[in-house]
Amino acid sequence: MSTISKVLIVGGGIGGMTAAICLRKAGVAVDLVEIDAQWRALGAGVSIHGAALRAFASVGMGVLERIKQEGRFGGALTLRKPDGEVLFTGPTQSPFGPDIPGSAGILRPVLHKILSEATRASGVSIKLAATVASLRQTATGVEVDFMDGTTASYDLVVGADGLHSKIREMTFPDAIKPRFTGQGCWRALVPRPDEVQGTRMYFGRQKAGVNPVSEQQMYLFLLHNVGENRRMPPEEWPTLLKQELVEYTDPVISTVREGLNETSSINYRPLETLLLPSPWYRGRVLLIGDAAHATTPHNAYGAGLAVEDGIVLADLIASGLSADQVLQQFMERRFERCRITVEMSVALGDLEQRGASREEQMQGVASFMQMIVRPI
Ligand SMILES: Cc1cc2nc3c(=O)[nH]c(=O)nc-3n(C[C@H](O)[C@H](O)[C@H](O)COP(=O)(O)OP(=O)(O)OC[C@H]3O[C@@H](n4cnc5c(N)ncnc54)[C@H](O)[C@@H]3O)c2cc1C
Repeated sequence: MSTISKVLIVGGGIGGMTAAICLRKAGVAVDLVEIDAQWRALGAGVSIHGAALRAFASVGMGVLERIKQEGRFGGALTLRKPDGEVLFTGPTQSPFGPDIPGSAGILRPVLHKILSEATRASGVSIKLAATVASLRQTATGVEVDFMDGTTASYDLVVGADGLHSKIREMTFPDAIKPRFTGQGCWRALVPRPDEVQGTRMYFGRQKAGVNPVSEQQMYLFLLHNVGENRRMPPEEWPTLLKQELVEYTDPVISTVREGLNETSSINYRPLETLLLPSPWYRGRVLLIGDAAHATTPHNAYGAGLAVEDGIVLADLIASGLSADQVLQQFMERRFERCRITVEMSVALGDLEQRGASREEQMQGVASFMQMIVRPI
């Protein structure tokens, strides 16, 4: 029986790093290649749902404890009108018990540091500024040529190289491409006033919100109905974001708006989605995370799905199944949950773009919250 004891992971993002840690815990030898020489985390902050914190708890290596120490958690979610009037307040008690918060926020570079340190400590062999040049499937594995001219053989190659995955292009050349959804996402890292303890979402003509990521900071987000994917020149970002925030008269948002200028940490990104049909493997190459299933940020669960993928993969390998059984059962356990999450995130964006009522949009958020707490 052909089993999996040596794995190459391509991509050192949230999905690649957590898969690497979980596989090491399952006794697998892991090489990880990351194309970025500086191994940077792009973006300001990330919201982490309680179900994703539950997944980080399974990853172990003290990751959850450090997220709790270095991120921010504990405040209730509130859904609001643009003037700040509260429409709904979420529970303060976590459905995951006393040790796992119901949600958290953290700076992306801080989360990246926590995960990269845990990846190194778990004994993963890491190469930066490195990637795959070509792959050759054999009867029991994959022979890999790297860009630096070296070659190695693996029982399994895991493509965790994100939305515009090269491993997907190499393995599924006929696969669907990422699709622009008609919206862009603005994010800005700004000072956190004491009154902002938990995530606030504002339902106006468009959806905006703030999420604490540390004692001193929170990030603001705005989901912009842009229709076509036009370029937003970075030198105009402060002015463009200010324009889009005019409708939010809650003092928290107005203060952020007034403070935005050319020195502010602002980011704009057009939103794309992808759901690769099952199976996400061909031969002994498997795609995980955004490479296989990219959500929009509407339900803030793309990172959660990526972490869950690695947990399930390691769990199946550890149970002593053959490689073929691992891959088949991986799809059985992962496809529906990922499909529903991707489709719900896109549906929330569609509701915003067609100007659906607040009630309908809030119902969409609530349905996702109920679905995602199910065990993986
Ligand atoms: C605007 C926005 C906001 C979001 N906010 C949230 C949020 O609040 N909460 C949440 O849970 N999710 C959020 N998401 C989704 C989340 O960021 C992704 O789902 C998650 O980062 C996916 O992780 P990943 O490891 O699969 O891919 P990525 O994070 O894209 O990591 C891929 C890694 O692979 C590397 N790489 C790329 N190509 C190669 C190559 N050829 N060879 C080697 N390495 C390569 C990259 O450098 C990178 O390190 C958001 C997404 C967007 C667009």
